[in-house]
Amino acid sequence: MEEMTDPLSDQGALAESQRCLYCYDAPCIHACPTGIDVPAFIKKIANGEVASAAKTILTANILGASCARVCPTEVLCEGACVLGHEYEPIPIGRLQRHATDFITKRGISVLKKPTETSGFRVAIIGGGPAGLGCAADLAQLGHRVVIFEKERDAGGLNTRGVAYYKMKPRVSLDEVRLVESLGVEIRREVNVGVDLSAGELLSEYDAVFVAIGLGCGSRLNLPGESGPGVRSALDFIRDIHEMPLDEVAIGHSVLVIGGGNTAIDAVSQAKRLGAPSATLAYRRKEERMSAYAFEVSLARAADCRLLFQAKPLEVLRSAEGNLTGVKFVHETNGKEWIEPCDQLLVAIGQNKQDHWLKSLFPTLELNSQGCVITDPLTSRTNLPKVFAGGDCANGGKEVVNAVGEGKKAALAIHQMLTGKTPIPTLQSSRRGIARPPAGAGLWNPVRKPTH
Ligand code: SF4
Repeated sequence: MEEMTDPLSDQGALAESQRCLYCYDAPCIHACPTGIDVPAFIKKIANGEVASAAKTILTANILGASCARVCPTEVLCEGACVLGHEYEPIPIGRLQRHATDFITKRGISVLKKPTETSGFRVAIIGGGPAGLGCAADLAQLGHRVVIFEKERDAGGLNTRGVAYYKMKPRVSLDEVRLVESLGVEIRREVNVGVDLSAGELLSEYDAVFVAIGLGCGSRLNLPGESGPGVRSALDFIRDIHEMPLDEVAIGHSVLVIGGGNTAIDAVSQAKRLGAPSATLAYRRKEERMSAYAFEVSLARAADCRLLFQAKPLEVLRSAEGNLTGVKFVHETNGKEWIEPCDQLLVAIGQNKQDHWLKSLFPTLELNSQGCVITDPLTSRTNLPKVFAGGDCANGGKEVVNAVGEGKKAALAIHQMLTGKTPIPTLQSSRRGIARPPAGAGLWNPVRKPTH
């Protein structure tokens, strides 16, 4: 259950950083929703200034350490790397992890809490990636920020919903502490709407950012679903994070229904935790899965069985009510069959929190999918002083998208409060660096394997 991707050694990081072309107007920057100045931080690693590299990363993305582990880099920054046309792209995610781990392990602080405050107060509902991204930027701009988090720990799914072999919860909790070190207050186990009202928030704070993410896992709504043995895959992954591993209930024959990354995480983790049999069933063809191809290959590498075009019809139980299997029909040939199982994990998406939002802000505009409608440039909602971002507005994207939306809202809130536009950090430290890097001493791109 260790993190599956090995960290780069110091020598490996140096060698990889020296392969970078330090492109002008680099496409890897544009591919990152938080606009990390990738060539600048890689150049710093190449120069041996690793802590400064971490500062470049964290200034743009306070969750740089977790994004280095959970981002689908092959379709974002590394997918855009110009070297990828002919050679192996620069392993940007691993270099980012190298730099952020460097300062965490040594307890080095690279971001400073501002000494002057603006006097403005901002409330953030939800301490997940969007809320933390917004809070970090607002705090560094001098505003007083309070996050209202309903769970015991902030960090959202980064803390509770990512497979152990991708990222340990401590990485996310370290990031939460980093945000707090900037002066952000996190009020944990506070249920907005119960413990305090929208009216109190709006009267006590100058702006409110809604970053509540999504709700609990969706149900299959099939006969036999209610009863022992059936649960949300997210709850299963959460148990792995919160309980001793030998106390997590693992079936002998685990069946996961779904085709996204959570489904893949659940089936892979079940197998890696000792389930003799772990099967994923998805109702469409493999190419329609929303899980990334490399995630699917991880499940295969863990010896999981994958079934496609398998539409569940009924959850089957014994006379005593115990789970015995699921009846499926093949989407193409109509053939029905039974997959035996003693644990069924459902991973078909999460519910929107539209009812909760409407109860808190009755006039807040939502779209037909139950997501908050926001201005794409400013994350403003239709309500004065209220902004929104992350999964509750975008319907469910990557962690880095949520952080990017939080940052965008922070800038818009700052502008609304002060009438000023902060100097953007993007590309601030790098202009026109030529290739190959002067004095880098190594121009050694790794050729792509031809097979
Ligand atoms: Fe970015 Fe790749 Fe260019 Fe380096 S070589 S700046 S990683 S696009």
